[in-house]
Amino acid sequence: MFENLTDRLERSFKLLKGQGKITEINVAETLKDIRRALLDADVNFKIAKTFTDEVKEKALGQQVLSAVKPGQLMVKIVKDELSGLMGGESADIDLSGSPSVILMAGLQGSGKTTFSGKLANMLKRKRGRHPLLVACDVYRPAAIDQLKVLGEQINVPVYTEEGNMDPVKIAQAAIKEAKKQGHDVVIIDTAGRLAIDEQMMKEISSIKKAVQPNDILFVVDSMTGQDAVNTAKEFNDRLDFTGVVLTKLDGDTRGGAALSIRAVVEKPIKFVGTGEKLDAIDVFHPSRMADRILG
Ligand code: GDP
Repeated sequence: MFENLTDRLERSFKLLKGQGKITEINVAETLKDIRRALLDADVNFKIAKTFTDEVKEKALGQQVLSAVKPGQLMVKIVKDELSGLMGGESADIDLSGSPSVILMAGLQGSGKTTFSGKLANMLKRKRGRHPLLVACDVYRPAAIDQLKVLGEQINVPVYTEEGNMDPVKIAQAAIKEAKKQGHDVVIIDTAGRLAIDEQMMKEISSIKKAVQPNDILFVVDSMTGQDAVNTAKEFNDRLDFTGVVLTKLDGDTRGGAALSIRAVVEKPIKFVGTGEKLDAIDVFHPSRMADRILG
């Protein structure tokens, strides 16, 4: 579906072997290729332009050592730049609280509930934590049941209050319960809607105020392209979240949303979801995502 940019760049630079510098003309041609690849990967147009302008500056004037092909150097510059834009390093979640409170936010269908289960599973199995999952989607009994089923699968308790329609109270009571039971992480799954609405935003803002989370993770479906960026911006404006979770990266998206979201909201992407199963979770690695975007 996508042409491999790395090959394309190397091909277009093949004839330049022996030159000491990448010239402005060479760069201009390859920048077109890079921009097209970014747009193919669903990177926002403006961001693709800013990015290629920056790459141009970096590339011009960089010495090409005789042993290195200009194309390879260009690819390296582009990858380093992309990776840097996405944070350079992996970002962890804040587990310093006792308990640490992680609040999930996002639209319905983004993968919030599944990710809550994945995170609980990862923290329990790989980091020796004792998580408590909390069902705060009071409008959809099916969502509460879904979390309970996930909890059973990974053997992590799920706090619910049947009939209580106040998610703030449920979240507060869950944290109390967590302290009593010795849980060191509380993961709160919240209600999402198909589109952003005022009530959802008010509700999650109230939960935030009441529980003072260590981390607020905004969960977004990577397949939704430009919409993902707009949703991220609106959630961030209202919620000032601390990190992003990019789900459904097992699909055929190139993952350009990662770059766009990072550039627009300036918050780190902390995790990615790579499947429906509960172990399909990865820490976000900017350099790997740069490779994926470029192909
Ligand atoms: P929520 O409404 O935000 O809580 O979303 P859910 O957790 O219910 O997920 C919605 C759908 O997306 C479900 O069918 C999940 O199995 C699926 N899903 C969630 N994360 C992933 C992922 O990383 N990859 C794939 N392929 N499917 C996912």
